[in-house]
Amino acid sequence: MNLRSTAATTIDTMGNLILSPPYGGFGYYHNHGPRTKKVVALTFDDGPSKPCSEELLDTLGELNVKGTFFCVGLSVTWHPDVLARAYAEGHIIGNHSMMHSRKAGLMLTSGAHIDAATHEIEQVIGQRPRLYRPPWGWLTPWEGIRLRQRGYEVIGWDIYPDDWKLPEVKAELLVEDVYSQIRPGSIILFHDSVSNKIRWEKKETARAIRMLIPRLRDEGYEVVTVPEMLNLPAYGPRHTTPKAH
Ligand SMILES: [Zn+2]
Repeated sequence: MNLRSTAATTIDTMGNLILSPPYGGFGYYHNHGPRTKKVVALTFDDGPSKPCSEELLDTLGELNVKGTFFCVGLSVTWHPDVLARAYAEGHIIGNHSMMHSRKAGLMLTSGAHIDAATHEIEQVIGQRPRLYRPPWGWLTPWEGIRLRQRGYEVIGWDIYPDDWKLPEVKAELLVEDVYSQIRPGSIILFHDSVSNKIRWEKKETARAIRMLIPRLRDEGYEVVTVPEMLNLPAYGPRHTTPKAH
């Protein structure tokens, strides 16, 4: 490993620890719902894509489950039809930044990466999202302030299976991983694409969902959206006065 990749690995590890769930986020993150009610939420990051998001929508439709999709603005420009379908089928659409850049959220000066994605999503669904998940989970205090000024709530997770990896992790392993950690109020992070790729053909996430949902239901869990779980609005106008924090 050369010096550069060693430095990158170290910075990533530190960044994940300080800026990401479960420990990071400077008080802005909602990482789970109340632990007193047997509900869980499925979230899907980095889409929309073809055919992965479409297959996932088919699966969720068959199971009669609604998910919460954190979409990348650039991917929305490629696949507005997939986003429109997800919204029309009752799934919740959140913002996952315009280009999925770590750097954009670290910069002190601009919220353009947030606003551009808001705009792209609003163009398609006719609503302004109010839920945001930072790319890579990295949230600085100043990014938290920018998001709050724009009326966004920051949504994290408490279960993060390896469905982003390549080659794909088998659905059976994803399900066991999720199942071993599941608790009332869990927010599970899956992926329906990878950042900034037009085509994404992974199969295991949809297969895992197909196995997971009946098991959760047998255990008495109800699958809800993030706004339902946290009692937050999914969409709404921009705040004009920043909230104190
Ligand atoms: Zn992401």
